Amino acid sequence: MEPLVRIENTSCSKCYSCIRSCPVKAIQINQSDGYPLIITPRCIGCGICITACGRKAITYRSSVEEAKSLFTSNEKILALLSPSISVEFEDVTDYRKFATMLRALGITYACELSFGVDVIAYKYQLLFSDFKGRYYITSTDPVVVSYIEKYHPNLISNLAPLVSPMIAGARIARQIYGHDVKVVYIGPDIAKKDEALLYDDDRRVDIALTFSELRALFRHFNIDETSLEYSDFDPPLSYKGALYPLTNGLIQAADMDENLLTTHVVSIEGTGRMIETVREFEQNIKFVHRHVHVTSGNSLTGPGFSKPTQRLLSEYLVIKYANKRLQRFFRLEWYQQLQRFLDLDYSRTFRNDDQRIPDPPQEKVDEILNILQKNDDTAENCRECGYRTCREFATDVAKGLTSPELCISHALKNTINNSETIRQLNEKLAQTRKQLKETEENAKLQKEAFTQMSELTDAMLDRLRAGVVFVDNKLKIIKANVSFSKILGEEAEEINAVIPGLVNADLNKLFPSNLVNLFSFVLSDGEVIENRDIKIGDNLLNISIFPIVNGKVAGGILRDMRAPEVQRSEVINRISEVIDRNLEMVQKIGFLLGEGATDIERMLNSIIEFYKGEQKQK
Ligand code: SF4
Ligand code: SF4
Repeated sequence: MEPLVRIENTSCSKCYSCIRSCPVKAIQINQSDGYPLIITPRCIGCGICITACGRKAITYRSSVEEAKSLFTSNEKILALLSPSISVEFEDVTDYRKFATMLRALGITYACELSFGVDVIAYKYQLLFSDFKGRYYITSTDPVVVSYIEKYHPNLISNLAPLVSPMIAGARIARQIYGHDVKVVYIGPDIAKKDEALLYDDDRRVDIALTFSELRALFRHFNIDETSLEYSDFDPPLSYKGALYPLTNGLIQAADMDENLLTTHVVSIEGTGRMIETVREFEQNIKFVHRHVHVTSGNSLTGPGFSKPTQRLLSEYLVIKYANKRLQRFFRLEWYQQLQRFLDLDYSRTFRNDDQRIPDPPQEKVDEILNILQKNDDTAENCRECGYRTCREFATDVAKGLTSPELCISHALKNTINNSETIRQLNEKLAQTRKQLKETEENAKLQKEAFTQMSELTDAMLDRLRAGVVFVDNKLKIIKANVSFSKILGEEAEEINAVIPGLVNADLNKLFPSNLVNLFSFVLSDGEVIENRDIKIGDNLLNISIFPIVNGKVAGGILRDMRAPEVQRSEVINRISEVIDRNLEMVQKIGFLLGEGATDIERMLNSIIEFYKGEQKQK
């Protein structure tokens, strides 16, 4: 069986109005998705959450489809109609039209609940007058019964051990119309749907429909009063039971003493007042000295009405309807019926369905109050959370029944703090963005400068007659100039035309191993190799290799010794070297011989001058 009340998340705006309004804290925030979640075992079926939800996201278990199949079957069907029809169907001009509309639906017997009220009212009169020291709370309203079973199980023995008028009405109807008749209750209170499930004998109610559902069925079967004739309700006829929806309707129906100076019964209506009254009844059980007739008030304002009702107007309509019914009241007939059915068994028992959660330690509650920035002196007790005091709220937070976010002032403070944090974060973000922009601009300028520099360097390198190459530690070329390709020959020049600078070319494939080894040596040892002559094929190269970034990058300068300009400068360099190296020795020989050395020097210098002169002419 699906739960009595459910929430449709797709329609929910997470306003938590339902959580605040639930009088027994049966709705919690689902921590996984933030939607409200009804804890069904805690629910007492009061329907307050349904009215509280402006988004109509909370619905009750529908019996419409079940009713459609029953109404189109061959079963004998009996309707038990709550006297609250006068509030819901104000638009129907005469209640006798209404009885015909029910028959048009497929209902065989249209009966009023009011006779069941008359019988149960009489039973209450007997119970209260046969006082044996125990004061009772009436059990006519399933919301009240459920509240006591779940939250005040100690009072179960104070619940009047009598079935409700609906169950009494079903039992009486089967006495009159047969045990196989299907009973359909029609009223404004959704908790009747769960109460109907309690019995499977003659007391059973097969379907409990709300007025909204009845209207939906009228629409479905295209039934309205305009084409229908009058017909009266089926027996048993009732007396003052038609006043049942009113606060003291049961007491009036029982003809009990209502004189405030002498009465032993008080009547209380409304779920909130019901809860306070039951609490107080338990606390002051020794001093109350009253039976309490207490109801949720749903007979006048329940969620089963198709539209919101107004308390005073509803009361007036009920009284008007009761008076109208009493115009056709035959006391003797009624009294005989009452006598006939008084002896049926209307007793019932209750079950202990304790849903109370033990109170948490006070330190824990104080800790939560501290988080909420409240203590008993400063607490606002604003009641916006649905609790009477901040301490009660904190206690239920500690029990896990509610969440700190439901404290409006706490949530507001958090919002203000969050706003300040967000403001600061936004400021930081703006600063970071500004810095980032500046950094980007700097990087752009640096990149441009680098590109210019790189282009300049490339141009300079390409103008050099000597071949220049830079390699990485994997002996891949990072960059080589045009002269380097020229020195290596045609094949290298062709590659350079496609991949300028021979970028990424493997040195192993361009040079013999002895030359490659020199680069590896410089990369690994960081030593400089200067002016090493190496023969490659027919070429004689003069090579210098030096580290640029230790262990990572090395550079090499290659000169083709066959090139005339190199030849000349080399001859000059090398002759100068010979002169320098031999000068000392020649001076020593000259010292020994006394002459001749200057002639050798003069001769070699003349060779140098000759080459220099030729170079200038070129
Ligand atoms: S009152 Fe309705 S919309 Fe608001 S949280 Fe509850 S179910 Fe959602
Ligand atoms: S029906 Fe009543 S008890 Fe149940 S969840 Fe809604 S408000 Fe709470």
